[in-house]
Amino acid sequence: MRRPRVVVVGLGDTGVLTAMHLARHADVLGIATKPGLLSGQELGLRLTRPERWAEDYWIDFDRFRRLDRVEVRTGRAVYLDRVARTVTVQDAEGRSSVEPYDALVISTGVSNGFWRESSIEDAGAVARRLHAAHGVLARAATIAVIGGGAAGVSAAFNAATRWPEAAVDLYYPGQAALPQHHRRVWRDAEQRLRAVGVRLHPGYRALVPDEAASGIGVGPITWVTGQPPSAAGAVLWTVGRVRPHTDWLPPELLDERGFVEVRPSLQTAREDRVFAVGDVAATDPLRSSARNRADRMVARNVRAVLSGGELDSYAAPSRRWGSVLGYQPDGLRVYAVDGRPFWIPRWWVDRLLRPVIVRRGIYGGVRAGSTPLPWAP
Ligand SMILES: Cc1cc2nc3c(=O)[nH]c(=O)nc-3n(C[C@H](O)[C@H](O)[C@H](O)COP(=O)(O)OP(=O)(O)OC[C@H]3O[C@@H](n4cnc5c(N)ncnc54)[C@H](O)[C@@H]3O)c2cc1C
Repeated sequence: MRRPRVVVVGLGDTGVLTAMHLARHADVLGIATKPGLLSGQELGLRLTRPERWAEDYWIDFDRFRRLDRVEVRTGRAVYLDRVARTVTVQDAEGRSSVEPYDALVISTGVSNGFWRESSIEDAGAVARRLHAAHGVLARAATIAVIGGGAAGVSAAFNAATRWPEAAVDLYYPGQAALPQHHRRVWRDAEQRLRAVGVRLHPGYRALVPDEAASGIGVGPITWVTGQPPSAAGAVLWTVGRVRPHTDWLPPELLDERGFVEVRPSLQTAREDRVFAVGDVAATDPLRSSARNRADRMVARNVRAVLSGGELDSYAAPSRRWGSVLGYQPDGLRVYAVDGRPFWIPRWWVDRLLRPVIVRRGIYGGVRAGSTPLPWAP
């Protein structure tokens, strides 16, 4: 009997895991714009210590044992034909191929300024982009971070610890930052930010200029909340203006903001064989299916649709959780849904969390290797 063919479009955090779960049960084709898993996680670490970030968050596809059976193709999906059940994929030279599917998983994520985007890039281009963002911040005597979500808080904290001689300011519109987390998380993070010298500016809402789309600008920053403009050597825009990577999809599969409309089964609203997962999927207001590991569920549901069986439902927690400040030289702080922090000392991070829980447990084995390029700027 012919094995079903599943196409996974977008091999980022959720696409890689979903493709792995399906590989034993179907012929899986993964469409990737990048030369490996280039995770969207831990912006602060990525900007301030890119070499360290790359050890965990930039991993060549060849190094994942459970991707051995997956055909990984570099390219970008440019068109979905729902009737013919095909996806048109374009490679870096503009050549197209038409890929049939029995089931399709959309995991194309979102653009978020400069650190998540959808162009096809080789390792050199990725490394240059990482270095460029790092270099702008490293040279600045004052760094202004605009926005009080997890990305902004993480960037401000890591900038202050990495460059203690620089002045780091965090501006956010409310009285507290991290509004999508339990309020305990901000209480804890606020103390930590102050302890490393980040200057906090509640009640500042910026007029967002066009340069915000490219992530790092130069200022001055204009405030719609009435304060005089502020100057800074580097302005990091982390204002949450995400844009879903859905320009290749028919509008009837999307909600009014352009995210993929899904049912609790993560099937799209109109197509039983087309699923969406991760930041692109309009599962809940926080679009939280990536961090809540819905990759396992979506893979089970793909199998159920292809070979019969019960469909599971995704239930989202009401608050964000996870790490906010990222790996630190002494360990990792993780916040639960109820905002309580738990601390994993460095020894456990290096001996248990990274090698056993993440690399073996979550990814099913990662071959030894290093980041694809040396880190000489
Ligand atoms: C194990 C795990 C742990 C996590 N822990 C945390 C945490 O502690 N705290 C936290 O806040 N979040 C956490 N997250 C969530 C994370 O921050 C983001 O939600 C996650 O990076 C989003 O993943 P994604 O696959 O939706 O998108 P991405 O990882 O951005 O991947 C999308 C990919 O699709 C590509 N693409 C775009 N358009 C196309 C196209 N047309 N054709 C082909 N490819 C395309 C993109 O270039 C990109 O490579 C975690 C996620 C996971 C999986």
